[in-house]
Amino acid sequence: MDDEIKMSLKTKVQDAASDEMSEILSDFSQFYIVLLLNEGPIHGYGVMRAFKNRTGNTLSAGTLYPFLQKLESMGLVKKAEKSTGNRPKIVYTLTRKGRGFTNRLFRRFSAMTASALEPSLETCASCGARVYDGAHHEEVDGVKLGFCCIHCAKAYKHDLVADHSHGEKGSDTI
Ligand SMILES: [Zn+2]
Repeated sequence: MDDEIKMSLKTKVQDAASDEMSEILSDFSQFYIVLLLNEGPIHGYGVMRAFKNRTGNTLSAGTLYPFLQKLESMGLVKKAEKSTGNRPKIVYTLTRKGRGFTNRLFRRFSAMTASALEPSLETCASCGARVYDGAHHEEVDGVKLGFCCIHCAKAYKHDLVADHSHGEKGSDTI
């Protein structure tokens, strides 16, 4: 985790587009537009439709197009005219630079959410795995412990019994 933080700080310093990333991360519409662009070439109307379908909120053309223009001016997105039937459609595609940018953006986003979720995570008392969904709880020697699964709980109790019997043997020999 420490290395991850160091890495993201390093990226932050090196990244000229860092301010832009912070802005996108603080604006859900912008972040979601980048997310949709990352899925593949898409036209403006497609972005608005997918946004509405998936978030239930309306994305206005007045929010979308200036943002797409900005991404284009930064060299992150390129426009292409694609004629389907009679009507030409403008399709937006991430450039190579744009894909690098989105990868870094998503890494920053997951670092942000990981630290936000951290306090709610439990660690398995047996194997040390992080438990994202509800942990399996068992009372062992009067202490309530969390495990990732019943097998780990079983293994933990088994080891505990083994430790105890070692201890008893030890005291017997004295
Ligand atoms: Zn476990």
